Amino acid sequence: MSEKGYKKITYDIASPNLPVANILLIYTGGTIGMGASESGKLVPYDFKKMLKHIPEINTYDLHITFISFKEPIDSSDIAPIHWNHIIETIADYEKDHDGIVILHGTDTMAYTASALSYALNGLNKPIIFTGAQLPITVPRTDARENLLTSLEIASAKTKDGTPVVPEVCIFFNHSLVRGNRAQKMESVKFNAFRSANYPLLAESGVSIRYNYSSIMPFNKKGNSKIRIPNWFLGVAILPVFPGITREAVLAVLDNPSIKGVVLETYGSGNAQTSEWFTSCIKNAVKNEVLIVNVSQCVGGEVMQGMYATSAHLEEAGVVSGSDITVEAAITKLMFVLGSEKSYKNAINRMLEPICGELS
Ligand code: ASP
Repeated sequence: MSEKGYKKITYDIASPNLPVANILLIYTGGTIGMGASESGKLVPYDFKKMLKHIPEINTYDLHITFISFKEPIDSSDIAPIHWNHIIETIADYEKDHDGIVILHGTDTMAYTASALSYALNGLNKPIIFTGAQLPITVPRTDARENLLTSLEIASAKTKDGTPVVPEVCIFFNHSLVRGNRAQKMESVKFNAFRSANYPLLAESGVSIRYNYSSIMPFNKKGNSKIRIPNWFLGVAILPVFPGITREAVLAVLDNPSIKGVVLETYGSGNAQTSEWFTSCIKNAVKNEVLIVNVSQCVGGEVMQGMYATSAHLEEAGVVSGSDITVEAAITKLMFVLGSEKSYKNAINRMLEPICGELS
């Protein structure tokens, strides 16, 4: 795996008591592990240096295996190849571990969590992404609380010994959010993530209160065979706005390398009805470009046909994204188009939830 730019720096923390769970902790980078460089800019720190700032980790009755990216990165540099590095690591180690915690920058955490929710669907294990708004080296950091609570959630088991949260999530600032419903909404305050159109899966305070009815049930017949996805990269996001030109629309829709588009529309899925715009959409659909309608609104859902300003999209063959987020929609397009050759089947897969990303 190291040829792929991913080095396993493995060392274990073994509790002196019988460990209640085995946890795999993967460090990819992000603010949580950053420190100031000589030029004063924040850059990712080495993993071992980072852990020195959180000695509390040694007090848990857990056995923790640490794995780090060879070069920890700012999550703005994350690409599908890195998703696969994480998936490969999980495939290599998951059998001996009850839960997985992934330290990741917040900027693209919702994309990675969405992508991994599809790729690891059926694994039936807690996969908890977390990070921080302030580096772990800073006294007032949020890293400590985020990491320690994520470890607790990843190791939580029911009376039957099954995991309490057998799905991909983000834990941040006291809230546990389904990974493919998460959106980064705040770059300064600690409440970086929100859950779009879905309840929180848990909240932490004096204790961790789980919202059992919203958590994906443990599937006894779960599929633990992990396949490395072939992410299809010919996708794009096209937000509409008043004054958008034909040239801008065609640059995306009339581009032979683009086969999947998230069309970010107004309100409940509306866009202009001008003849040129409608014909750009129709031509793209005729050329088997899979267009998914996702709203620019932060809440609610797409209801194609409710207004005349969305009926033309429905008629043209645009697929309704219902209440999916842009992050979950674009990664789902990459996942589906990477494995599905038939246009019709790909449309059907976009309409159906894979793992709770749409209602
Ligand atoms: N730029 C950082 C990153 O996404 C921000 C963060 O981690 O909060 O890696």
